[in-house]
Amino acid sequence: MIFVSPTDCHIIQFMDSKMLTVLILLSALATCLSVPRRCSPGEAAIGRCRTPAEETQCMEMVLGYCQDVPYSHTTFPNIVGHRSRQDLEMGAEYLLLSVIHALLNGECSPDIRLLGCSVLAPRCQDNRIMKPCHSSCEMVKKSCIHAFEAIQMAWPYFLDCDRFFVGSEEGCYDPLSELREKQEVAFANISDGGIFTILRFTYHTNSQMFSILKKTAAKCPHISQTYSIGRSVEGKDLLVIEFSDNPGQHDLLEPEIKLIGNMHGNEVLGRQLLIYLAQYLCSEYLRGNEQILSIINTTRIHILPSMNPDGYEIAASEGHEYNGWTSGRANAQNLDLNRNFPDLTSIFYNRRRFRHFRSGHIPIPESYWINKVVAPETYAVMKWIRSYPFVISASLHGGELVISYPFDLSRQPQEERMYSPTPDEQIFRQLARTYADAHPTMSNNDTERCGASFASKGGITNGAQWYSFAGGMSDFNYLHSNCYEITVELGCDKFPSEEELYPEWLRNKEALLSFMESVHRGIKGIVKDEHGNGIKGATISVKGMRHDITTAEDGDYWRLLNPGVHIVSVAASGYSKASKRINLPRNIQVRRVDFVLKKVPREPSLDYFNIPELDNYERFDPFNQFEQNSRRELGENGEERTEKPWWWAYFSQLGISAPTWLLQN
Ligand SMILES: [Zn+2]
Repeated sequence: MIFVSPTDCHIIQFMDSKMLTVLILLSALATCLSVPRRCSPGEAAIGRCRTPAEETQCMEMVLGYCQDVPYSHTTFPNIVGHRSRQDLEMGAEYLLLSVIHALLNGECSPDIRLLGCSVLAPRCQDNRIMKPCHSSCEMVKKSCIHAFEAIQMAWPYFLDCDRFFVGSEEGCYDPLSELREKQEVAFANISDGGIFTILRFTYHTNSQMFSILKKTAAKCPHISQTYSIGRSVEGKDLLVIEFSDNPGQHDLLEPEIKLIGNMHGNEVLGRQLLIYLAQYLCSEYLRGNEQILSIINTTRIHILPSMNPDGYEIAASEGHEYNGWTSGRANAQNLDLNRNFPDLTSIFYNRRRFRHFRSGHIPIPESYWINKVVAPETYAVMKWIRSYPFVISASLHGGELVISYPFDLSRQPQEERMYSPTPDEQIFRQLARTYADAHPTMSNNDTERCGASFASKGGITNGAQWYSFAGGMSDFNYLHSNCYEITVELGCDKFPSEEELYPEWLRNKEALLSFMESVHRGIKGIVKDEHGNGIKGATISVKGMRHDITTAEDGDYWRLLNPGVHIVSVAASGYSKASKRINLPRNIQVRRVDFVLKKVPREPSLDYFNIPELDNYERFDPFNQFEQNSRRELGENGEERTEKPWWWAYFSQLGISAPTWLLQN
């Protein structure tokens, strides 16, 4: 038999006659209804809204998402005023705890959940509510508030450290004590706590990957930071870790490079190698490794270990069985991301015979946006390519042991295998060889190697000569931006066993470092006007090569060139042309060549072949396909309102009162 206490509406055991119970229940219910309502998110838990009474009845903790708290008994009403377990489970607060791991990509998990449980299902001991410590709350808030900011979510009201947490003089307890102990043990196992990082040669889940990248950036904050370039179909971050002596900014004349892994979700080795590379760069920099110091001080490196975290999840659920060829190649919309880019190569082939046609900076045709389902992952990477002055890039794949370089699309549509070089064939061959030669087996033709078909070619191939396909990322990089991208096929096994991770890291470490160093090759400099101001968007042409490079924001440029004599000319709309003859000896890695251009009256016909679409380069995404989240629209009363963040759907579909307290402002 149960009895509802008239004072604080909690449930206690009581033995009495049936009739009496009913009467008491009714009167208790009436009293319950007349007690002050529970505190709303905006109110302090004092005064007119009801705070939990001191005397209470402890009950067993049965909440699914709070099973791992360091205590076994809780009570209702809880600290924010939920009257019963059901009341709590129906509420948005508890729902938030149940999805917080997914929302924050595993960051601050389970910390936030345990902290939330200490308020929503508070510790109960000797029939008294125990309150969690203010200091525990502050500590979690300090390290986790940025994760909330990153998804435009307000810090939840029930984790307000000043309202629901108390100091040690009031006898508080630390709800995260057990978690910390566990974490310390785990941390001691994977790290010596100093500058060294022990690489764990196991596969990392998406949340482990996010956590490692963020921890690495936190360990090396003066040379590293993380940023997201967008989200996958299922809402996972496409998280980049950046290394530079000035993270977060472009340094004049410092070339930028990118490394991309896991574009095909089931090709997982590159993803692990890039996670290791990030950890290695950080710890070796701290250790004072000369080679790493030099790379980071002269180069800005952007690493995206997983371009397809949704596909990875499918592949990882199957594991490396099935001969290493698992499902999960495509993204969550079943799109092959390496077929999803605009096919600028066909445009190039159609126009290459025009006398003035140059192969660079071909705009994305409008038909691409109309006819193609553009994956959010593709979109994010295209935007990324356009936002940074990348000079070289490597996309890490698996299934073969070879470096392939553009073009990937055959110059004869009916030919599936046809040598189809770019105007930069020699540059690409050099880039590809840099990686292959630094890899112990890729260029090797006299030992047992997988993918033997490329052994005689030194482990490199023109993409279309291997097999032709349209819509690839490397062709897009070359024809739309200044970036030269190679495709690294790391080995025959797309999903090698974990025992292979360490030897593969050893095989590829030097190759990755050599590739990064190879960006310092050819010429670089600044194109300025007569007053010394950098000119953005000036074109750098090399005689005999029908592919131009453009200057970045501050007029700086990088032109990969092999040793020899080159005639380089520079043009910018509204300026006179300038040319220089440059001798690039073998022993010089990169030579500085600046240009000063004089202002002249604008001559529209100076611009090369007048193809109307060439003016469209700046018009990226004319239909704003992926800008819905930030788009403003008119509300019911005609006032402008901001669209809700993507995670709002978690809460709005479940028929609970909408937790507007999660919205910022
Ligand atoms: Zn692939």
